[in-house]
Amino acid sequence: MFEISLIPAFKDNYIWLLTRGKRAFVVDPGDAAPVIARLEADDLTLEGILITHHHADHQGGVAELKARWPVEVYAPADESITGRTRPLSGGEQIEVLGEKLDVMAVPGHTLGHLAYLAPGALFCGDTLFGAGCGRLFEGTPEQMSASLDSIAALPDDTKVYCAHEYTEMNLRFALAVEPDNAALSDRVARVAALRAAGLSSVPSTLGEEKATNPFLRCTDPAVIAAAEQRNPTVNREKAAIFKTIRGWRNEF
Ligand SMILES: [Zn+2]
Repeated sequence: MFEISLIPAFKDNYIWLLTRGKRAFVVDPGDAAPVIARLEADDLTLEGILITHHHADHQGGVAELKARWPVEVYAPADESITGRTRPLSGGEQIEVLGEKLDVMAVPGHTLGHLAYLAPGALFCGDTLFGAGCGRLFEGTPEQMSASLDSIAALPDDTKVYCAHEYTEMNLRFALAVEPDNAALSDRVARVAALRAAGLSSVPSTLGEEKATNPFLRCTDPAVIAAAEQRNPTVNREKAAIFKTIRGWRNEF
């Protein structure tokens, strides 16, 4: 398996750097400058770029990187992506630094959003965050809920490499939904210690997310009860609970 490390960008974005020896891929390079600096510092050769969705903070650096390294750009077929050479849809498989990656369609944050599943590691862009999930800019609650279901079906030890450091803020909301969740309280303490030490809270594991992320817990009695308190007429279907919790988060 390739090695995975992070390149911070903008205020709270993470660009994931995949390396095998001196060969490199990057995931969602919203900004070229920090990527170029890291590739040069480590004497790496860029061999490809993966894009999860079309937002500028995920693809803004592609043109500049391609001008220097004319590499393949793997990106959603159904979105407008600068420099895309390999349009992809869910269900396809690609090879990255000797590993097979499964391409998952995860519509919701955007309609063409993709996630990339490597052995034990999921690059999910702005779909699932530490203790949270992306805003629904384009998709419906039903679509996002189904996308999160497909992620939740992966093994618990899958590491979740999301694209933003939003965990602390998300945990504050998660505690408002589930004040009595002991796993959540534990995670709040662990993340606070990591952040105080200047470390990233990402990646988490999917098992950790299933235990603490309200958006993966929409069938849990405590989350259903919180949604019903927020909206007494909500029905108990998972997507309706998800919609209520997501709407609450938008106003939190
Ligand atoms: Zn986005």
